[in-house]
Amino acid sequence: MSAIDYRKFYIDGAWQEPASSATVTVTSPTTEQPIGSVPAATTEDIDRAVAAARRAFDEPNGWGEWEPAQRHEVLGRFAAELDARAAETARRVSMQNGMPIWLAENFEGGFPSVLIRYYSQMAADAPAVEERPGMLGGTALVSRRPIGVVGAVVPWNVPQAITFLKLAPALAAGCTVVLKPAEETVLDAFLMAEAAEAAGLPAGVLNVVPGGRDLGAHLVSHPQIDKVSFTGSTAAGRAIAETCGRLLRPVTLELGGKSAAIMLDDVDLAASMENLFGVTFLNNGQICWLNTRVLAPRSRYSEIVDGLTDLAKSLTIGDPLDPETKIGPLVSARQRERVEGYIAKGKAEGARLTTGGGRPAGLDTGFFVEPTVFADLDNDATISREEIFGPVLSVIPFEDEAEALAIANDSEYGLGGSVWSSDIERAARVAAKVRSGTVGVNHYSNDPVAPFGGIKSSGMGRELGPEGLHAFQHLHTVYLPPAG
Ligand code: NAD
Repeated sequence: MSAIDYRKFYIDGAWQEPASSATVTVTSPTTEQPIGSVPAATTEDIDRAVAAARRAFDEPNGWGEWEPAQRHEVLGRFAAELDARAAETARRVSMQNGMPIWLAENFEGGFPSVLIRYYSQMAADAPAVEERPGMLGGTALVSRRPIGVVGAVVPWNVPQAITFLKLAPALAAGCTVVLKPAEETVLDAFLMAEAAEAAGLPAGVLNVVPGGRDLGAHLVSHPQIDKVSFTGSTAAGRAIAETCGRLLRPVTLELGGKSAAIMLDDVDLAASMENLFGVTFLNNGQICWLNTRVLAPRSRYSEIVDGLTDLAKSLTIGDPLDPETKIGPLVSARQRERVEGYIAKGKAEGARLTTGGGRPAGLDTGFFVEPTVFADLDNDATISREEIFGPVLSVIPFEDEAEALAIANDSEYGLGGSVWSSDIERAARVAAKVRSGTVGVNHYSNDPVAPFGGIKSSGMGRELGPEGLHAFQHLHTVYLPPAG
């Protein structure tokens, strides 16, 4: 397989020479071999990208002043170009971060164009202005305007879908964007830039400069940025919130989680297994909203522990590019070390390991960790409280619904969650009492029509739904005088 190498950045609608000659090599977490490279960005490259985005927004007849229907047309071409590259996008993501290919085809290949079409249509359909008869005699004209230049910083775990949670509404609203992908997943971001170029996005509307934490910090504090949209760890989110607080800069933060699946005593366990996989071990445990705490009623505790143990044992571990693979490697050696550290902590604190806990036999190359289940522990265990970001579950017993909710809500985080029962109405009643931004019943999926995001240390602001578009708009009022 030949390496995917880029030598330039997509800035201001063209492929531009980087400021430095250094490069970043992307390593496969499966083979531990290099698979591609991109230029290493410097703050100078970020500055050029921000200047281009600023010009594209501020110039007369700039992107923000286009009619939404005109933007809709260009964005439709962007969606088509993304679709044409969907299979390659999925392959690149899978090769870079270990996401099983069937999932990458769905999330990473499929979702971006869906979001572009959804938001550009929504913006085109929105009334340009709302006329409100005033209380004081005149009329108020209220409209939504694009917020300006957006600095978007994204992580490596679901890189394209997360990118488009930001890009799709931002571009549809009329904002221009500087995107900073994580260093682990750059090859998909550059392919996306090729799609933007092929679609004829006007120069400067979208600029892509990958890099690490320092470049991210430079971008979010840049004086020419109007809004920050960030997805990543809670620690980075706090640092970014401090910066944005000082600058009085609007910011959306999608951060970490430690969500709970509440299994009610009437759950049909056998019928739930496939969906339970989808909320526990999906993407090798590297999704922010995963339910890594499974709360089980004492009356069915051993049955649920056994069910999850069997599920974990049944998952095919291996090359993420193989369509049969359910569990690929973790993104990096560092991430595996972190996850193994938590497994050791779980054992040290006395939890009972029912399966996993090690590296899979026969897979000596690649950053693999077995799907792991811990039982006989409570919600105070370190592994029940901290986000692990790997395939490791805590199965925690409860007595009744009230205790289940108390445990689910006893968390620093509040991003996702789920409730499982044969009685949908009962489950929905319990779900309404879970303190988090989103909760699923007998499954979990981020439907584009509804807001997604967290409370407490899981962040602030929402993506998806009309709320996701509003996050890139500010409200503008014109007061017309009373008639006569
Ligand atoms: P991370 O916070 O280390 O990095 C995320 C991105 O932020 C990267 O692009 C990184 O370069 C950049 N970054 C890091 N520190 C920064 C700083 N101080 N200023 C500006 N940019 C900075 O996170 P990660 O380990 O790459 O990703 C995993 C984390 O992301 C997990 O905690 C996970 O829960 C979270 N996540 C949240 C969501 C969500 O929607 N809530 C989705 C996916 C991942």
